[in-house]
Amino acid sequence: MFDKLTVPTTGTKVTFKDGKPIVPDDPIIPFIRGDGTGVDIWPATEKVIDAAVAKAYEGKRKINWFKVYAGDEACEQYGTFQYLPQDTLKAIEEYKIAIKGPLTTPVGGGIRSLNVALRQIFNLYACVRPSRYYPGTPSPHKNPEKLDVIIYRENTEDIYLGIEWRKDDPIGAKLINLLNTELIPATAEHGDKQIPLDAGIGIKPISKTGSQRLVRKAIENALRLPKEKQQVTLVHKGNIMKYTEGAFRDWGYELATTEFREQCVTEKESWIISNKEADPDISLEANARKISPGYDALTPEKQKQICQEVASVIDEIWATHGDGKWQDKVMVNDRIADSIFQQIQTRPDEYSILATMNLNGDYLSDAAAAIVGGLGMSPGANIGDNCAIFEATHGTAPKHAGLDRINPGSVMLSGVMMLNFMGWQEAATLIQQGLASAIADSKVTYDLARLMEPAVEPLKCSEFADAIVSYFA
Ligand code: NAP
Repeated sequence: MFDKLTVPTTGTKVTFKDGKPIVPDDPIIPFIRGDGTGVDIWPATEKVIDAAVAKAYEGKRKINWFKVYAGDEACEQYGTFQYLPQDTLKAIEEYKIAIKGPLTTPVGGGIRSLNVALRQIFNLYACVRPSRYYPGTPSPHKNPEKLDVIIYRENTEDIYLGIEWRKDDPIGAKLINLLNTELIPATAEHGDKQIPLDAGIGIKPISKTGSQRLVRKAIENALRLPKEKQQVTLVHKGNIMKYTEGAFRDWGYELATTEFREQCVTEKESWIISNKEADPDISLEANARKISPGYDALTPEKQKQICQEVASVIDEIWATHGDGKWQDKVMVNDRIADSIFQQIQTRPDEYSILATMNLNGDYLSDAAAAIVGGLGMSPGANIGDNCAIFEATHGTAPKHAGLDRINPGSVMLSGVMMLNFMGWQEAATLIQQGLASAIADSKVTYDLARLMEPAVEPLKCSEFADAIVSYFA
């Protein structure tokens, strides 16, 4: 079946049913070691995961690792420009859950980014990036422990689809001409706008299907969290990009209030209901005035619309959400993208799950990672309905490659996410606790050691792994 891969002689395949993994006790898990510092961080990670599984399940469970190739290592095995061989794609397709180290961005060979290619090939539409603080980790923030968020970033759409043309490309020029002469003037709201003739041009598709399947995963995750963390914030720039980013927000609310009607309440609904709880006889108009600052300056039509909205919320969900019942539901709210960048710094404890489109999520997840200790500590997963790939979120850091010094925390915590995804929470918890204890005792790699006050002697990457295992109780 495979050209150059050796499948483990023992182990069983993971399967998926209704978007959820069915994991045997002896799963075969393909891994891509990764380029650059992959040679350091993967062995450290494998050692820690194996030790945690052995400790947690006393031999009843075991991962059978299946080495597959991508990036530079794949080119060495399969030939020039073979960054993503068919063998590797077949293995991931077949075995469903995989984990990878960082990969070099190919130069030539037609693939812009291996990571983006993998997400698109396997339709891994949700990029999941938790940012949680481990006490003792050096952070530029005063209270990094207040940030504990999971970012659900849409992974397949937005400007990341890569449909774009450089300045002067004949197709781009044709498109600009068509837009300027026919399509823009045909839409009244665009006025006399024109695209400069010397512009590069890119397309930003945001679909209802893509938005809702992402928000669905975010809400499902919120439902698994403790009550006080059951909140999903839709992040968007809908005040400016109404039909892409604004639509993402609207479709998110639509999903929450239809498919998850019993389990969710929107922020606005919670205001309307709590106004009535505080004053059972409140009129529709008084309620509308309270939820809309500047109500009295609005046109009568707009005021009527808000009153109707208040009436329909009371009619439709008072029985299921009123009398305080809304407080037990997942709160769905939305925030403008630029304000959420401020808020995760100034009011981090007000947020739990952030659902974003592709580009906003890319920026936001690195910003959140910086607050809790940087990319070395930031894990990630790419999840679809039929497959999942867990990955280090940093690059290959080539200058540190092979020196046994880099922080393996990112890929290790991605392993923690993988174990949780598999339902192996006990092993995941052991690793998290071991990592937390090592950091609390200042047993850390160079990147964290240099920021500690006073600075501490750094451990090697492999020593850091050993330290974590030594804390497994
Ligand atoms: P990078 O590999 O992420 O490294 C930049 C710097 O970040 C490093 O020099 C190091 O800073 C710090 N860093 C990275 N990994 C770390 C870790 N595990 N622990 C502690 N610190 C870490 O970014 P780059 O140099 O811009 O990119 C190198 C290559 O990686 C490129 O080919 C890029 O395309 C690729 N890349 C791959 C992925 C992926 O596979 N997911 C993601 C991003 C980039 P100090 O030297 O200051 O300590």
